[in-house]
Formats: sequence, C-alpha cells, structure tokens
Amino acid sequence: MDKKATKQQPEELDLFVIGGGSGGVRAARMAAGRGARVALAEMGELGGTCVNVGCIPKKLYSYAAGYAEAFEEAAGYGWDLGQAPRLDWGRLKAARAQEIHRLNGIYQSLLEGPGVEIIRDRATMVDAHTVAAGGRHWRAKHVLIATGGRPFKPPVPGHELALVSDDMFDLDPFPKRLVVVGAGYIACEMASIFNGLGAQVTLLQRGAHMLGAFDEDVRSFVAAEMGKTGVDIRLSTQITSMRRGNGGLNLMLDRGQDLQADAVLMATGRVANTDDLGLEAAGVKLSDRGAVVVDAQFRSSVPHIFAVGDASSRLHLTPVALAEAMVVVDMLFPEAGRSPRQAPDYDFVPTAVFTHPNIGTCGYTEAQARAQLGNDNVSVYCTEFKPLRHTLSGRSERTFMKLLVAKDSDRVVGLHMVGADAGEIVQGFAVAMQAGATKAHFDRTIGIHPTAAEEFVTMRVPNVG
Ligand code: FAD
Repeated sequence: MDKKATKQQPEELDLFVIGGGSGGVRAARMAAGRGARVALAEMGELGGTCVNVGCIPKKLYSYAAGYAEAFEEAAGYGWDLGQAPRLDWGRLKAARAQEIHRLNGIYQSLLEGPGVEIIRDRATMVDAHTVAAGGRHWRAKHVLIATGGRPFKPPVPGHELALVSDDMFDLDPFPKRLVVVGAGYIACEMASIFNGLGAQVTLLQRGAHMLGAFDEDVRSFVAAEMGKTGVDIRLSTQITSMRRGNGGLNLMLDRGQDLQADAVLMATGRVANTDDLGLEAAGVKLSDRGAVVVDAQFRSSVPHIFAVGDASSRLHLTPVALAEAMVVVDMLFPEAGRSPRQAPDYDFVPTAVFTHPNIGTCGYTEAQARAQLGNDNVSVYCTEFKPLRHTLSGRSERTFMKLLVAKDSDRVVGLHMVGADAGEIVQGFAVAMQAGATKAHFDRTIGIHPTAAEEFVTMRVPNVG
C-alpha cells in the first residue's frame, strides 16, 4: 500500500501506544506477545525518561560520586592511594552514553521480538480512535497514553538560564559551583551526586523542609547527613531572579543576599506530557495540572483510552508505570488460565532516594500513620547509630531507622531508613510488609550479623506509644 492509500484507509490495530518509555514499552511488548496487533510511537529515544535522563544515568552518576567517599574512607582501612584521585568528567559521560545506547537497543529488540510496529515520530490523536504518526493514520480499538512527563521551571525572571534535570547528564563544562533549586527527590539526588563528583553545591528550598513527602525524621536526618558531606542546604530561601554576570550566573535571593554559580538546576517539579496530543478533541479529561484523569483500571473518561505512568496522576516511579501497564494489558488481552493483575497497592510502594547516604522507605510516614490509624494507635521505634564501616573509615556518617506499627493490629505500616544501601535493604522488607508482617514477625526474625539491616529486627522498645 502506498502512503496516500494508507492515509485514506487507516491501518487497523488492537492497541496503539503513545510513548516508548517504561510504561509504554512494557504494555506494547506484552500485548503483542499475547497476539495483539500493536504499534508504538516514540518521538525520542526508546526507554523514555528512566533509561535516558532518569533512574539509570542518575544511578550510574551516583555510583561515580560514591567513589569520592570510598577513596577517603580507604585510608582508614590502611590503603595508601598516593596522588589524590581526580574525575575525568568527559570519560564518565562517554561511558554513560555508551551504556544508555546499549539499553536503547535492548528496548528496540524487546519491541521488535513480539512484532510491535515502532514509529519513530510524535503521535497525536485525530479523533477518539484514530492516531496520526509517521505520516500515517492508525485506527486502534484501544489507545494507551504513556507519554510521561517533563521538568517544570517556575517563571522566575531569568529562569531560561537555568538547567533542568535532563540537561545534567551531558553538562559541559563540569560546574565548579552548582545551585540546585528545589528539594524534592530529584533535587536532593542531583545535589548529592554533583557534590560527590566535586562541585560546590548549594541547595535552595523555599519551604522549611526538604523532601516534603517523606517521614519527618527522615527529612531532618538526611538534611543533616547531606550537610556533613558538604552540600550547603538553605531552607526557607527563595530565588527571586537570575542573570548572567561576569563571574557566571548571579542569583538574587528573597532575603536580599545574592549567590554566584556556574550552573543552576531547577528541579522544581514535573508536568505530564499531554499538550497538543489531541486528547481534548478525543474527549479525554485532564486534571488541572494536565495529567490524564483515570479510574482504578487506568481508563480515562473515554472508555477505550487508557493512561499509565507519569502521564496520569499516580506515583511517578518506573516500577509503578510497569505495574500499571500490566493491569491494562491483563484487562484488554487476558492470558488464558491466569487471573488479571490488580492495580498496585499505592500505600506500600517502596522507594529509594539515591542521596549520599541513601534513603529507603516503604509505607506510611509517621504523620500519615497517625492520620490513617488514629493518633494514639501508632507505636514508633527509632534507632540511630554509627555503622560498623565508619568505625575505621573516619567518616562521621550515621544511619537512621524507623518502624511504625499499628497498635491494634501489630502490623508494621511504615519502615524508613537513611544509610548506605537503604534501597537494597528496604526492598526485602517491602515484601514482608505487603504480606502484612506484624511487629511480632519482625521480633521473631533472626538478624544477619553484622549488618545494618539487622537493626530492623532488633528494635524492642518503642520510643513513642
Ligand atoms: P516516560 O519514561 O517519561 O516515557 C514517555 C515517553 O513518551 C518519552 O520517551 C517521550 O519521548 C514519549 N512521548 C511523549 N509524548 C509523545 C508523543 N506525543 N508521541 C510519541 N512519543 C511521545 N523512577 C524510579 O522508579 N526510580 C528512580 O530512581 C527514578 N529516578 C528518576 C530520576 C530523574 C532525574 C527523573 C526525571 C525521573 C526519575 N524516575 C525514577 C521517574 C521515572 O523515570 C518515571 O516515573 C518513568 O520513566 C515514567 O515512565 P512513563 O512510561 O510514564 O514515561
């Protein structure tokens, strides 16, 4: 068929997926694997935010930053490293780019294997069943919006001079002085990473706390630890304008001070990629912030159009986008003999923040636990200690752990950690929490000695309650 003929007679599909990131790729390849006719449009690189400018490159850079600490610590263990090690930023960027390129290829194979047609173009909806992409029209029984999100910069005068998180991975030159505006997890991670890599980092947060969505004790503990590593954290401080000066960028702050930097990162939130997608014309309802409004099955206001991941309004994490995609696929293209997957339990999604030290968390914060279960119905167990590793390393870094237990059911409803490998540790405990583990189960569990994680099963006396 020539292109003209195709335009007049759109190709028929079972599923058209807009967006080749975490959620989109998972949905497309699983649906095609079950025999559905599927096409996927991606206007950038396959793998989306997570692979290209999110989780993966960020974690690689976090490992790179961690070496700075490891070199320092090694002396306490008898190692003599000779000359002070120095970072070759160009080499790190090239190594990262090569690995990401490899992953892009894997994503392509994952789609091609089961026969997904990949369209390397921006897609838009022409009407509720028709999608235009790559100069062609497609008529799909079902459409999945998996277009993710993008960084948002507040309209501070001079904001066009500021970078967003997407820009941080290929920065040139390496910024000696970096100001990070914002204190969500992306801001804190970037601050830690660039501090570790050798920049002098100042973090500006207009509110009184960092990491607003996290447990109160975790927030203050990690702020203190990041401060010890050298990040200059300025809370209740707002940037009012910025402009280019002779010595770099000049930032004006609300209290009349000013600050100079080589680069400014605005990590001030993200918005859904739903502009000019034709969604309104198709009748799809959007929230005030532009996210697709979906029900518990990820169905939009138009029953055959679905949205998962950052384009809808739930938790913005890769494993959540994957889980949501699987709910949609199971519903539309069920596997014989298997019951369809349930929507994820959003209350018990474990997550990590790759600051130095890391945060790992699962379940309620203390405030949420008290609000959900009743103020007097929560026991709080906390511990704080110097990890064994730092007895010889010379670092003053400390580890923090906290458990929240529902008094009436004895169920562990919140588990939080700030310390090395917190994400690795909390993942295992999240399984137990999902299975409804009680404090009695924790108490009966034998610890692994000597580890930091064993402290989670040896906290006997509540600090509160
Ligand atoms: P995305 O992965 O963003 O994919 C959407 C894709 O759609 C993009 O590739 C985009 O180009 C494409 N697209 C958009 N519009 C169109 C269109 N009209 N036509 C065609 N293609 C289109 N999550 C974690 O779980 N752990 C982490 O450690 C973590 N770290 C992060 C660090 C950073 C700096 C950032 C920014 C995010 C991080 N995240 C992390 C979040 C995670 O990356 C996202 O939640 C996840 O990628 C969402 O997947 P998605 O499929 O919804 O969207």
